[in-house]
Amino acid sequence: MPSETTAPPEAGRDFIREIIDADLAARRHQTVVTRFPPEPNGYLHIGHAKSICLNFGVAQEFGGRCHLRFDDTNPTKEEQEFIDAIERDVRWLGFDWGKHLYHASDYFEQLYEWAEHLIGAGKAYVDDTPLDEMRAMRGSLTEPGRHSRFRDRSVDENLDLFRRMRAGEFPNGARVLRAKIDMAAGNMNLRDPVLYRILHATHPRTGTAWSIYPTYDYAHGQSDAIEHITHSLCTLEFADHQPLYDWFLDNLPVPSRPRQIEFARLNITYMVLSKRFLTELVQKKHVKGWDDPRMPTLAGLRRRGVPPEALREFVRRIGMARANSIIEVAMFEHTVREHLNRSAPRCMAVLRPLKLVIENYPEGQSEEFEIANHPENEAAGARKVPFSREIYIERDDFMEDPPKKFFRLAPGREVRLRGAYLLTCRSVTKDASGAITELRCTYDPATRGGDAPDGRKVQSTLHWVSAAHAVPAEIRIYNPLFSRPDPGAEGELLDDLNPNSLETLSGAQVEPSLATNNAEATFQFERQGYFCRDPDSTRGRLVFNRTVALRDTWAKVQGGGKPGTPAKPR
Ligand code: ATP
Ligand code: MG
Repeated sequence: MPSETTAPPEAGRDFIREIIDADLAARRHQTVVTRFPPEPNGYLHIGHAKSICLNFGVAQEFGGRCHLRFDDTNPTKEEQEFIDAIERDVRWLGFDWGKHLYHASDYFEQLYEWAEHLIGAGKAYVDDTPLDEMRAMRGSLTEPGRHSRFRDRSVDENLDLFRRMRAGEFPNGARVLRAKIDMAAGNMNLRDPVLYRILHATHPRTGTAWSIYPTYDYAHGQSDAIEHITHSLCTLEFADHQPLYDWFLDNLPVPSRPRQIEFARLNITYMVLSKRFLTELVQKKHVKGWDDPRMPTLAGLRRRGVPPEALREFVRRIGMARANSIIEVAMFEHTVREHLNRSAPRCMAVLRPLKLVIENYPEGQSEEFEIANHPENEAAGARKVPFSREIYIERDDFMEDPPKKFFRLAPGREVRLRGAYLLTCRSVTKDASGAITELRCTYDPATRGGDAPDGRKVQSTLHWVSAAHAVPAEIRIYNPLFSRPDPGAEGELLDDLNPNSLETLSGAQVEPSLATNNAEATFQFERQGYFCRDPDSTRGRLVFNRTVALRDTWAKVQGGGKPGTPAKPR
């Protein structure tokens, strides 16, 4: 499939904004009103972020407003937990609906009245046909549907039955209310669609007041009209519903006439953006919860350390297309990395420690180095990093018998400890099995700050932490949740789950500032990647999530022409 990202759209301009421009120029509206209409049956995911940024973004740009409307027409699947999570996540993403918080259930009475209006006009009827039979009678794309034998009930009989449906006289599924449109219509949505079904269920807002609930198709457009929505922006799968959307507006005394416009759903490689499937992952405990950092939910991305600004920038870059496509996950990570490279404070953490003893550094002594928090931003300030005789470096940064292109530490070789001193490895200590247990080194006291007065160069700069001051930490590295870019393409989604989506490193050592500084921030662990503190952290034991690695695979995909390569220590 072609990628939308190969030709980035002009900043913020797309066909939807052009339609709105034209509508305003023609004075069809005085102000633009949009809405974001989630069904509270799960957490929001990154696909919803596209819809949120579009609806709230358009409202901001045109000086209008955007409503948050819960599409709460299916009480069996909806929960207060989801309502709360949705509000939290929309706010986190940076948007505010002000006083414009609505629910489809706010309109149940009005929707009911309009249903009676349709019955009175001979445009709706109560059907007792069992549901499976009704489905069979709908026909197919090549065959017209058949009329129900209840289709010609009198207005009075329909009204009587519909009122008794409301009163709760009949069991679930016994009858439905259908619009009377055209069973031979080419568009299946016009073949007498269901408007109301009987459902004896407790609704989070209306309790047991209702025994019948409107369908999505019936509730949605009328809710738009009640709220004077001018542009009802929805995903492409609703294009076929538009004639029905308009049929209701034509046949009901609605107070306004919204216009539905469809745009492409967001799809991303290695991700599944379906609430139904995400619910299954949570319920069957394939992940730790809705906010598991491997989840494509906004709560998961937040916990993983993705800043909301980076998500908004991602949505801006993918643009609004009319045709569905699939975005590379590397493009998402590239955007996050680019943002964090600019904004994330730097610090040092050793993920797989190797101890190093500096033989000529006095025992019991320590000192502090002021190290800049960001190489390109002085305003980010500096922090004090303690140094002493025993430090940890990364295991990977030492080789006893290095191949030609390995420039880091090796016996007899001098390297720079970032911001501290130049240091030379003198010998290697091993245990009985031959495994390296520590390195013995010497440092050059004349190189304080990391530069030699004689100007001699070293090939490599290593990050480090002082053993006496370091704080132990667990590091959680996240790999894609799925082992193939197109999960489920050749079988069950669950079979494509990546068994190695979570790697845990338990013995990391991090610089002490990480135990005290701003818990919300995402940091660059120098030479390692971007990390943020997980809420599982306790006083004595920190836990960090890797947001993204430093290496930029997207830049490679783009032929290396893109910026965003992380700043490397000297
Ligand atoms: P799912 O298929 O995951 O259950 P949904 O569309 O049923 O998603 P809603 O709560 O109805 O979930 O979605 C609210 C709004 O978000 C709708 O307007 C919908 O079109 C939009 N939306 C949902 N998924 C995406 C996506 N992947 N890309 C863009 N917009 C989306
Ligand atoms: Mg939906």
